[in-house]
Amino acid sequence: MTTQAKSYPAIHTPPPGPKAQALIAEDKKYASNCYIKAYPLAVERGDGAMIEDVDGNRYLDFMSGIGVATTGHSHPKVVEAIQRAAAKFLHICGTDFFYASLTGVLRKLCEIAPGKSPKRAFLGNTGTEAVEAAIKLARYHTKRPQLIAFAGAFHGRTLGALSLTASKAKQRTGFGPLLPGVTHIPYAHCYRCPYNLTYPSCGLACLQVLEDEIFKRRVPAEEVAAIVVEPIQGEGGYVVPPPDYLSELKTICQKYGILCVADEVQSGIGRTGRWFASDHVGLEPDVVTTAKGLASGLPLGAIVARADVSTWSKGSHGSTFGGNPVACEAALATLELVEHELMGNAARLGHYLMIELHRIKQRRRLVGDVRGLGLMIGIELVRDRDTKERASNETQEVILRAFRKGLLLLDCGENVVRFSPPLTIDQEDADRALAIFDEVLAEVENERAL
Ligand code: PMP
Repeated sequence: MTTQAKSYPAIHTPPPGPKAQALIAEDKKYASNCYIKAYPLAVERGDGAMIEDVDGNRYLDFMSGIGVATTGHSHPKVVEAIQRAAAKFLHICGTDFFYASLTGVLRKLCEIAPGKSPKRAFLGNTGTEAVEAAIKLARYHTKRPQLIAFAGAFHGRTLGALSLTASKAKQRTGFGPLLPGVTHIPYAHCYRCPYNLTYPSCGLACLQVLEDEIFKRRVPAEEVAAIVVEPIQGEGGYVVPPPDYLSELKTICQKYGILCVADEVQSGIGRTGRWFASDHVGLEPDVVTTAKGLASGLPLGAIVARADVSTWSKGSHGSTFGGNPVACEAALATLELVEHELMGNAARLGHYLMIELHRIKQRRRLVGDVRGLGLMIGIELVRDRDTKERASNETQEVILRAFRKGLLLLDCGENVVRFSPPLTIDQEDADRALAIFDEVLAEVENERAL
């Protein structure tokens, strides 16, 4: 445990302070209406797990820019790699030419992707592009049109990926028609089982539906190119499926020649304490997507496919910016740090946080469920533990109050607080986050007389 006092969190001017207010007012004049903004945080700089706002307030970051700042903010080794790369060349187009950092990232991704089969990788810029690439490769390789995804899934906002997304209706409203041939089935959400059953006596009814209902009556299995699954559902509420769920899903895929695509945009690159969430259950997906934490905040996304699946022809897919040399150097530095320092830390601190959050659950009625792996932890808030009535307003209140006390959190699902800090946090960061979280839970419980 660190003994040296940290300079954060420290709130001197209740946020949003005057400078933040001025920036927000200016932003409002020009920003497109679709921006949502979680709370009025206006950032000046970051350092590790610390974020400083424009008024000099310092926060403890437990959301890492939606699970992106894997190595913390502006890690010196990542910054050095970026500066070195930027001074050499900013762009040459990895789709058409060669450079060592691109090849280096492709190679490393093929080495760390789950499973032992030889792999091939493709680089884009974002998570949604990775999902687009996965959809295209799956259709190309199988010559089949249909896709299966899950209720609560989030795969991105471009039209193909959006067609797989089924997280919040407002993300789809007004944008149709979306991709035809997408069928959603329930996810293995045991806390809110869609069949009102209990694991393991349920016999994974949420998967049986594929063979008992979907393939029999609606979508012929031989027309399905891929089943696209988040090994831990992210935006849908940090939902961890039971241990045998993904291997059973893979078995069904194999039986019908369907590709298993694991979307690890949020759960990958060490966040769960292993390279990929799939690794925890020995799943070898046919295609895995990654982005977010891959380059510590520089835009970079990828798919890694089994070599025998990566059959698309030259020129069938590409990207002008994908695998940008600066982003690739940032990724190489990130992967090095994650491998040698941060993945183990994520496992350790994640374990510690889970134990402590379960303790908090014992004394705070608002907490209905605590679940997660490594530093991907969801705390589901309920108004009543028996009825599991969603504490949606209270969730927002908890997050806002935490912000005012210097702890940056984000929600997911309707009523889940996510803990997704940089993988660099130490025990003192964890203890501070827990203390603030506990305090705001108590406040909200008392005020709402829950
Ligand atoms: N897939 C998953 C699992 C995600 O969590 C996200 C982003 N939240 C995406 C895809 C889309 O990523 P991006 O916003 O980089 O397009």
